Amino acid sequence: MRKPIIVGNWKMNKTIAEAVEFIQAVDPVCHDHATYGVATSFLALNEANKLAKNLIVAAENCHFEDSGAFTGEVSVPMLEEIGVKYCIIGHSERRQMFGDTDETVNKKAKRLIEAGITPIVCIGETEAQFDAKETEKVIRDQLSGSLAGLCPKCVSNLVVAYEPIWAIGTGKSATKEIAQNCCHIVRDQIRVMYGDEAADKVRIQYGGSVKHGNIAEYMAMEDIDGALIGGASLKADSFKEIIEKTK
Ligand code: PGA
Repeated sequence: MRKPIIVGNWKMNKTIAEAVEFIQAVDPVCHDHATYGVATSFLALNEANKLAKNLIVAAENCHFEDSGAFTGEVSVPMLEEIGVKYCIIGHSERRQMFGDTDETVNKKAKRLIEAGITPIVCIGETEAQFDAKETEKVIRDQLSGSLAGLCPKCVSNLVVAYEPIWAIGTGKSATKEIAQNCCHIVRDQIRVMYGDEAADKVRIQYGGSVKHGNIAEYMAMEDIDGALIGGASLKADSFKEIIEKTK
């Protein structure tokens, strides 16, 4: 049985004070049917992680080198020091605006796994690729690159977030059938690369305009083990409704 994992991706939102207020409101209502978490700015991570008892707290990115001349970056040992246990890598916004590639995502994944931090590896196609019916190829190619050279056991502990770029922040969520089909392709590609055990254990999230009104239908699909949620994770009440809907 795969335990679902539902993570709010706050992106460049929330000061430390706002993060604290959210965690105080949401942490007590988490339940055991799923793992719930929030990904905060680097600045809020330490405070959020100290405060959260039930929520897991994730970083939104990391660098693959441990130290050096990389102005503005944060390394995995820095995350380790404050006890962070999850880290999103390869979000489409980072791929589109900050130069992340399958190759750098792969290096980040390797370094995180070495540190015992669970990567949440994001993949997904653009609208043009979707229209050109290239989704399956994009998913398989991104996974081949991003997850290259890992051990099968490491892959079984990972989280993969399938997020079609055309559904992120647009209110135009994928149908549950499209989301299921794409998450199935993710699982199949992991089966091809790392075998049955890794494929059966890896948790696959759908992301893209998920909210309390549609989360239950995604969660009912066979290959969808949770969600990565942007906009609808920003307000405590809205995230609490999502927690309520996934009991
Ligand atoms: P959204 O964002 O829920 O606002 O579409 C999802 C994401 O970017 O992870």
